[in-house]
Amino acid sequence: MSTPRIPLVNLQRLDAMHLDEWMEAIREVVIASGFILGAPAERFERAFAAYTGAAHAVGMGSGTDAVHLALRAAGVDAGDEVITVANTFAATLEAIVHAGARPVVVDVDDRTLLMDLQATEAAITPKTKAVVPVHLSGRPIDLRALSAITERHGIALVQDAAQAHGATFDGQPLSAFGIASAYSFYPGKNLGALGDAGAVVTNDDAVAARLRSLRDHGRVGKYDHREVGYCSRLDAVQAAVLERKLAHLPSWTERRREVAARYNKELDGAVRIIEESPGGDGVFHHFMIRVPERDGLQAFLAERGIQTVIHYPIPVHALEAFAWLGYPAGAFPVAERACREILSLPIDPVITDEEVAEVSAAVLEWVNGRS
Ligand SMILES: *Cc1c(COP(=O)(O)O)cnc(C)c1O
Repeated sequence: MSTPRIPLVNLQRLDAMHLDEWMEAIREVVIASGFILGAPAERFERAFAAYTGAAHAVGMGSGTDAVHLALRAAGVDAGDEVITVANTFAATLEAIVHAGARPVVVDVDDRTLLMDLQATEAAITPKTKAVVPVHLSGRPIDLRALSAITERHGIALVQDAAQAHGATFDGQPLSAFGIASAYSFYPGKNLGALGDAGAVVTNDDAVAARLRSLRDHGRVGKYDHREVGYCSRLDAVQAAVLERKLAHLPSWTERRREVAARYNKELDGAVRIIEESPGGDGVFHHFMIRVPERDGLQAFLAERGIQTVIHYPIPVHALEAFAWLGYPAGAFPVAERACREILSLPIDPVITDEEVAEVSAAVLEWVNGRS
């Protein structure tokens, strides 16, 4: 496809509006000449901790490292099992494998496409060390019910919040639940760097200290290495830009919610809309609908210059990288059916009302043309 007229995420438009501000942040870091962690990272970490309602935020090199190191800091080790969902980005499972554990996959709820809590409790074994729910498209899972399960079984709750910056459950920040939450600042995420970056937030002082050490070669002082760690630090340039962007995030999130409400109003009844779980207040990283013969709709929209994406087209257990887990086709029927029917429509903080109306009208035209 040539450059879409209405892209899934219009980063170019967003960054053009703030270019001077981002460039000033970069300039300050270059002049100060400190490029790894340092004052810019500490300032951003304090601001992000406050934004997520947590005591600590620890900046990392990526969201994948954030999930991985959060699991390590939660005590996950070789031989453990960690439960997660079939319909996530491969990185969630990679992080579990990198932590030395075996991913145990469960199906999702048909209305929300979020972790099936009954299946999760049923999957717990004596080897289970942690559960990693994924707040798909920024819609939080029922964290009250899930944390009741993990607490009852004495296992860790580590959230993959890569798509959920600023989301709440029952009016509380996600950080109020479980031991740690991992965020990605991949450029297309709701809060995106100008490159790779991520962070873990936690209320646990010891977990935060372990994360600060793990991300920086396992050291606690300049040459005082206490364990074999990783090189996954937050760049000062990314931190400085992220600090500027974070100041805009509340209004960006408000606009995403407005856009989602418009899509909901226009499309309700014509297509299935992936629901929020009761109590969840999502941040609409994606706006997902569900239609039979989805590929036809996607091609129809592409012809009109409207870009859509499938999050995700192949459930993790069907990926070649995870074939060794041994799950057969049909193991997770809800997730597998959803993969054939879901579609994410354009949404970002700078999409116009006219563009939302155009996308909605095109979806309705296709749906009505088929009935
Ligand atoms: C983006 C994403 C990740 C990985 O984040 P990176 O910053 O790209 O490493 C992990 N899990 C989910 C659900 C994501 O969307």
